[in-house]
Amino acid sequence: MKIITELTLAELTAELKAMGEPSFRAKQIHEWIYRKNAASWDAMSNISKDLRQKCAEKWKFTSVEECESVKSSDGTEKLLLKLHDGELIEMVIIPAEKRITFCLSTQVGCPVGCLFCASGRNGLTRNLAMHEIIGEFQTGCAKTGRLPDNIVFMGIGEGLLNYENLLSAIERLTENEYFGMGVRRITVSTSGFVPGMLKLAERQQELNLAISLHAPNDEIRSKIIPGKISYPISEIMEAADVYREKCNRMVTLEYTLLDGINDSPDAASALAEIARKHHAKVNLIPYNDTGSDFKRPSDKKINKFEQIIDRAGVAVSVRRERGSDRAGACGQLRHQRS
Ligand code: SF4
Repeated sequence: MKIITELTLAELTAELKAMGEPSFRAKQIHEWIYRKNAASWDAMSNISKDLRQKCAEKWKFTSVEECESVKSSDGTEKLLLKLHDGELIEMVIIPAEKRITFCLSTQVGCPVGCLFCASGRNGLTRNLAMHEIIGEFQTGCAKTGRLPDNIVFMGIGEGLLNYENLLSAIERLTENEYFGMGVRRITVSTSGFVPGMLKLAERQQELNLAISLHAPNDEIRSKIIPGKISYPISEIMEAADVYREKCNRMVTLEYTLLDGINDSPDAASALAEIARKHHAKVNLIPYNDTGSDFKRPSDKKINKFEQIIDRAGVAVSVRRERGSDRAGACGQLRHQRS
């Protein structure tokens, strides 16, 4: 059975016409889905029960089902979502002051297999379909009662290895006819999958791009990200330059700080040099325990690392992992169930 969000407005209009419904009916249903954040067919109060029933027999409203929710003391809510084939993914709702950010997954598992990450531990199971990515988003909207201010594709998976479905989902999220979110409010994260970065750059859209660099040189990087899908830093940064020039967006270098691995003052200087040369910002993420052998550096080391980058004139921020008091880092909720 198809999912209703797989249909375009034109397709929905044609389908309802064939069911003998007037053309405005499609618009009403469309509005419930894309403007009023309906969570089910039942929510559509101006649609007759009979028609809702007929629609429910023809199309599923969503392809994801919430099966666990864990709220942290800082308000971050991690949701474990079940897909039609029983596979599990995670999404996270991150509230901050007046803003809400959704962190969405793009794959079931991840083929990149960064050694510090629970999501990549068992490799890739499959890509998410466009409607499953949208299903994550709708679950977040139903929970919060509104659209988020920002979306980051930093959940489970390497989004650029699921390029077509990710981009179809982004079209649904940004086109005025659908959810109508601003392109600049969306960040795509990549582990440095160069062909995907170059393909995305060709679109010349103002999507934000975050590159999970995690190391200032290839030697250290190979200790964190195994070789399967990993590209040399020089190639990644060349692709970052192309992206910046074509899309007019400064890229962000994500850097997970791992004690004794990539957190030395020399590493900070080398990272600052890369960022300066390529006009990038740096976002430091002190490691959050995922049950691997890595450790989080002391606060003193984290502060020193940040200071070195800051003094080199590079914009730097430290992201304290949200929701770390419950269910830990990205992928852990899912990992606990597998
Ligand atoms: S950190 Fe990201 S790219 Fe690396 S294994 Fe985890 S989900 Fe995949």
